[in-house]
Amino acid sequence: MIEIVDKKICTGCSACVSICPTSAIYFESDYEGFVYPKTDKDNCIKCKRCIKVCPTYNEYRSNNNENPDVYAGWNKNEEVRLNSTSGGVFTLLAQYILNNNGYVVAAEYREDFSVYHTIISNLNDIKKQRQSKYLQSDINDVFVKIKKLLNEENLVLFCGTPCQNAGLKSYLGKEYENLFLCDFICRGVISPKVFKKYLIDIEEQYGQKITKVHFKHKLWGWNKFSTRIDLENNQVYQKNRDEDLYMVGYLKYNLYLRPCCYNCKFKTLPRQADLSLGDFWGIGENNSKLDDNKGTSVIIVNSNKGNFLLEKICDNMEIKQQRIEDVIKGNDCLFNSPEIGKFRGYFFDNLDKISFTALIEKIILKQNKISIREYIKIILKKFRLK
Ligand SMILES: Cc1cc2nc3c(=O)[nH]c(=O)nc-3n(C[C@H](O)[C@H](O)[C@H](O)COP(=O)(O)OP(=O)(O)OC[C@H]3O[C@@H](n4cnc5c(N)ncnc54)[C@H](O)[C@@H]3O)c2cc1C
Repeated sequence: MIEIVDKKICTGCSACVSICPTSAIYFESDYEGFVYPKTDKDNCIKCKRCIKVCPTYNEYRSNNNENPDVYAGWNKNEEVRLNSTSGGVFTLLAQYILNNNGYVVAAEYREDFSVYHTIISNLNDIKKQRQSKYLQSDINDVFVKIKKLLNEENLVLFCGTPCQNAGLKSYLGKEYENLFLCDFICRGVISPKVFKKYLIDIEEQYGQKITKVHFKHKLWGWNKFSTRIDLENNQVYQKNRDEDLYMVGYLKYNLYLRPCCYNCKFKTLPRQADLSLGDFWGIGENNSKLDDNKGTSVIIVNSNKGNFLLEKICDNMEIKQQRIEDVIKGNDCLFNSPEIGKFRGYFFDNLDKISFTALIEKIILKQNKISIREYIKIILKKFRLK
């Protein structure tokens, strides 16, 4: 019977829920809005499969390459590239799998803008899975369905966070030649409850229903990405990363990541997936031709299967080999977890009391006061030293 005593170790990957033979394990949201497994004791047969499958309890290790090859590149299809978060490589992978009668499992929005993993078999559906959604995706029953598809000898591509990839591998319990895994360099996932509160504020500000959400929109370029939200009556909210309060709380103040994301066990080599994608921030400093501000992907090739996939799509890419050191320079999140924000506790204590916008504005004020105090301390210290 699985019991989460320390929330910092549970990624919510869903391996335990998926493996339970009596469906005794289910997810329940806590007050922060993150889901954790609970056990229905009446249905639990104490087989302990839930504990054995957990990739964090068991320090799950990947057999992939510890010195992977690294590339910078992008999809030659300009429209797809501009509509993707980084260089549009995910779409090429998905197209290859679907063109070979396979299935692609990745994250898309529901009508209410919650995020869940879906299984597609049609090229037209790739656009729903395209683009990063900065909140935790609901895995629902896709692990169980993936196992069935694999056993029926179908090709499957799974794309998700490194911990979701670890959860899927652990749940499957053996290697499948027909399974391709793709993860990404991951800063961490946000609580769905926080995202909902943010969207409610925008709908209230505009007095209209939201019709579309697009993170890391490239209107002002990939390097100056922005958040674009479309509303009814053709109204558009568009703010850059320093003005959109959701991104400010995520990227600048580290306020609302899942507790395990502040100490992620999967930000390491070897990686979990066959291919790891990301943004090649700073690549223009090495080679200005590789940053035209439309999105350059990092592609890390972790296994022979990853290499096979890359060979299949590279004719449709601009691509150049790089060094892993160059990825780290611009992308700390490859190996390091963000620090817990000073006001994370304050944020969640007040989330149900005031609006998301008012809460973040308060935190910005508090944070700035601290910064002034810290600045004065540094100056005083300098004087004392003299
Ligand atoms: C929560 C999160 C944090 C990230 N942090 C970083 C980072 O710190 N540094 C970095 O370089 N890159 C990060 N990325 C990855 C980056 O944003 C792109 O997703 C990646 O480079 C692929 O881009 P693309 O243009 O090839 O494809 P895109 O078309 O943008 O494809 C995105 C892929 O990610 C999947 N996906 C989207 N949202 C989720 C989600 N919530 N959960 C699981 N899967 C999802 C989609 O289904 C799709 O498969 C993050 C992505 C997410 C979702």
